[in-house]
Amino acid sequence: MDVFASRGKASIPRVLEGMDPAPLRELRLVDADLLLTVEDGDLRVEGSFEALGEGFCDLCSDPVTLRLGKAFNTFLTPLSRDRAAAASVELHEEDLDVGYYDGTGIETNDILWEQVALELPLRVVCSEECRGVCPVCGKNRNLEACSCKAGDAPGPFAILKNMKGKKE
Ligand SMILES: [Zn+2]
Ligand SMILES: [Zn+2]
Repeated sequence: MDVFASRGKASIPRVLEGMDPAPLRELRLVDADLLLTVEDGDLRVEGSFEALGEGFCDLCSDPVTLRLGKAFNTFLTPLSRDRAAAASVELHEEDLDVGYYDGTGIETNDILWEQVALELPLRVVCSEECRGVCPVCGKNRNLEACSCKAGDAPGPFAILKNMKGKKE
């Protein structure tokens, strides 16, 4: 049961519709393969995806384009299975991810959503070396060095001190 052979690759860009891709601003699937094989009531899921994400760097606010993708191999077993079957799942567990489904069916988009969600970054940066925006003068320090010292930043304590000073 090859899902995209029956539904057509044209459905791929719509698979992630409605998903919140935070911390990315936008995410769309550009390619996906999903092969479901029924093995005695269990589902073996083999697939891969490639997605293109867009967001803004946490540090300097520059736009960032990000490619996500991976190949996965999961084993889904019905929730209602008895213990003997559970033991056979454990055998599979060593080399596969094991998940559960309700035994009647599974929405293939859900499988992809889960796999994509696992690959979402915790935060978006344009590069590991991004120097960010200077908190004092606001210049993008990747483009232009500034001569501000770290101590020049008006921290919360400095603001408090000013407020006190005005009162007295
Ligand atoms: Zn940056
Ligand atoms: Zn500066």
